[in-house]
Order: sequence, then C-alpha cells, then structure tokens
Amino acid sequence: MTSLEQERWSRVKGRLKAEVGDDIFASWFARMDLEAVENDTAKLSVPTRFLKSWIQSHYSDRVLRCWQAEERGVQRIELSVRTAAIKTALAKPRADEPADLVHEQKVEKANGTEPRPHMAVSMPVSAAHEASGGSPLDPRLTFETFVVGRSNTLTHAAAKQVAAARRGDLVMFNPLYIHAGVGLGKTHLLQAITWAGNASGERKVLYLTAERFMYGFATALKTQNAIAYKEALRGIDVLVIDDLQFLTGKSMQAEFCHTLNALIDAGRQVVIAADRPPSELETLDDRVRSRLAGGLVVEMGPLGEELRFEILKNRIMAARAHHPGFDVPDNVASFIAKSVTHNGRDLEGALNRLLALSKLSGQPMTMEVAEREVRDLIRPQEPKRVKIEDIQRVVARQYNVSRSDLLSSRRTANVVRPRQVAMYLAKTLTLRSLPEIGRRFGGRDHTTVLHAVRKIEHLLGSDTALADEVEALKRQLQLE
Ligand code: ADP
Ligand code: MG
Repeated sequence: MTSLEQERWSRVKGRLKAEVGDDIFASWFARMDLEAVENDTAKLSVPTRFLKSWIQSHYSDRVLRCWQAEERGVQRIELSVRTAAIKTALAKPRADEPADLVHEQKVEKANGTEPRPHMAVSMPVSAAHEASGGSPLDPRLTFETFVVGRSNTLTHAAAKQVAAARRGDLVMFNPLYIHAGVGLGKTHLLQAITWAGNASGERKVLYLTAERFMYGFATALKTQNAIAYKEALRGIDVLVIDDLQFLTGKSMQAEFCHTLNALIDAGRQVVIAADRPPSELETLDDRVRSRLAGGLVVEMGPLGEELRFEILKNRIMAARAHHPGFDVPDNVASFIAKSVTHNGRDLEGALNRLLALSKLSGQPMTMEVAEREVRDLIRPQEPKRVKIEDIQRVVARQYNVSRSDLLSSRRTANVVRPRQVAMYLAKTLTLRSLPEIGRRFGGRDHTTVLHAVRKIEHLLGSDTALADEVEALKRQLQLE
C-alpha cells in the first residue's frame, strides 16, 4: 500500500472517530485495518467474526460515507476477518463435575411439579451455581427481562454473544469488560449471561461479585485449600466478576491477576463489570489494567426516557402476573419514566411503592396518586458523566480557540488559560486521573495538570468573573 493510501486511511479513521466518538471507535474500529483499495472497493479487515458482522450490520454506511468524504471513487466497503482468532483450548471433560443440572431437571419433571415458567430452569441452575461457590442469582435478571435501547445495544449484543458461545467455540473477545454508573444494568446483564450460559448445561458459568471472589480466597487460604480453590476456578468455562472496583488489597489483586491470565490463556471466557473503565481502576497495577483493556471494553450510558418507559411497562406486566388487580395507565407510566430519571433502581423503587399502595388501599392509580407517591424519588438530574472531549469542545467554543489549540504546546495567554480551565473541569467533573488527563491533553505530564488545577482553584477564590464563567461551563456540560 502506498503511503498516500495509508494517509488517506488515517483521515477516514479520523472522520469515523469524530462521528462516533472515542469510546465507540475504540470498541469497534480501533483494530480495523485497510488491506487495499481496488477499483471502487475499499477492502478492510478486522480480527474477529463478531466485529465483522457487527460493523457490517451497524456501521457499514457510516464507514462508506467517511471513505467517500475522502475519496469519491470508493463505492463499496468489503470487510474480512484478518486471522483465525484464537481457538479455545477444548475443555477437558471433568470427571468430578456432577451432572447436577441434567439430573435436577429430570427430577423436577418426574415429580410432576409445575414450577412457575421462568423457575423451570432457574431453580436447578441456581442451586448448582451456588453449590459451586457462585454468588446468588436473581431469577428476574435474565435476557428476557432486559430491555434493549440506544444506551446498551452494543453491550447487550456482546453479552448475548458470550452467553450463546459453546464449549470449543472461538473466543471473540476476552475479557468482555462492561462499565457503567450505578443502576444502569450491569448486574442484570452479567446474571443474564450466567443464567443463559448455564441453562444449556453444556458450559459452566460462574458469577462472583468481587467481594465473593475475595472471600473465597481468604477462606481457602485459612483452610489451606487455596490450590483447590484456584483449580476450581480454572475448571470453569466462563468466569463472571461483578463490581470489580471493590477488589482491594495487593494479594487479592495478585490472585485475581493470576486467575485472569490462566483463564484467558486457556481460552476460557472472562466477563467483568465495574463502575469505571479499566484505566481508572487506580488500585490495580498496570499489567492487569492493560490485560483488562485488551479485550472488548463497552460502556452503558444512562437509560433514556424511552428505555425507562419500556422497562417500567415490562415491570408492570410482570407485577400483574402476580397481582391481577394492579394497573398503571400509560400516562402515569410515562410520567414516572419522565420524572424518575437516570437509574433502574429508582424505577424499581417507584414501581414497588405504587404496587404497595394499590395493594394496601385499593386506590386506582391516577396521576395525582402517582405524583404524590414518587415525589421524593424525583430529584434534579444527577450529575451526568461528562467526557473529556465534551469539556474540550465546550471550553474551546467558549473561549473562541480550537480544540487542537488546547491540545497543542502553544503557550500564548489566549490558549493557556482556557487549557487550564479545561483541565480543571476534567479533574472536577470526571473520574479521570491526573496522568490520564495529561495524556488526553496532548500527552502532558500529570504535574502540568496538577499545576493547572491548583492555579484555577486559586483564581476561583479571588476572580469572580472567572468563577461565574466556570460555573456556566459546568452547567452547560451537565445539560448537554
Ligand atoms: P448495576 O449493576 O449497573 O448497578 P443493575 O443491573 O442492578 O444495575 O440494575 C438496576 C435495576 O434496573 C435492576 O432492577 C435492573 O433489572 C434494572 N435495569 C437496568 N437496566 C435495565 C434494562 N436495560 N432492562 C431492564 N431492566 C433494567
Ligand atoms: Mg451491580
């Protein structure tokens, strides 16, 4: 390929990144390569089949448009899978593994009990799961009850893919790392993977909270069973760890790191959820973080109003199965979806209140009743997760400089101050660390960022005009 073609390809990627944003770009396109441009066709390659089909079905038009913006002659995009992905080590049959899933299901049939619909599978699966040391599973948290919307499409697709894989299949991405704020469905998806994966009885999926993982090790160490515990962990097909941000302590992290490496090297799937991206798990050491970031990292955004409405409707339907008298008219549901913002837990809370009220008083669910009942759940929009790019964009616009000025090494007064303000906002409005912020501002050192933050903090105390300006920027960023 000529250097001209390479250059053009970089520009195409640049356009794509600008269109879809850094996170999506990093998840889906970072490993897309240009193979050749032949006649009117740009031939691209990606490392996995999953990426190929995902990009094909969701982004092929975008990719083509970005090409055409650089090179009118390109009419078609062709995607191929670059190399054979890593073949999972075929799991050895494990003699010690009780065939309890199959067995218990048979027993249930033989007894002629008619369990509630979703319980038919869930009880034996859940019993077997807990018996093998897993954290308890909630039977309601399955793929069937998970509502897909804009903020979680990617993550849901990846989770489905992991759950549907069979022993000996190609491992598409490892680990799958899901991050999102509180109440946005991480645990729900992780448990859905566990239910679905175990339901077939073919693979062994173990769901552990980080705390449970640590507890397991601590007890194993006490009883001098640590080796057996490690062996047990390595004997599973899919390890699912929830709330990784709670993993603390050097020795636990070392054990986690070993387990992670051993499983991945053996071609077993690892799925992780945390409230922040790997780069911000500051207590973990660099090697673990880079291993975590080396699979597929996907973020789930806040639940939009539509998604909240759908979730609520589903919940109402499910509640009606047990409480036939319970009804919530659409206008009330949509009021709740509109006003109980942000997080799935509050939605659940609101619904539980309405349900309790309806059971206790038998009152029909009117707007007035609903408004009164959920009043305290309606709070001003929680601060949303602000992105560094947004900060740079908004600050650049406010001070009439370009974003690249902010990232450049120019030291003229008209860019130095906006740059310091942007760094200050990055530190106060995001969870990013100083080194990370430095990297995102044109590869600066963390001491430069620290200096900027201190400088602005100092000025805010005396310069009221600046203080007002910074307040206005914050508001703007939180509203956008
Ligand atoms: P997290 O683990 O991210 O804090 P959870 O998975 O516990 O969040 O979700 C909180 C509540 O919101 C749960 O009751 C969950 O079922 C519900 N929820 C979140 N996202 C969805 C979704 N997309 N579809 C259905 N329910 C959801
Ligand atoms: Mg959770």
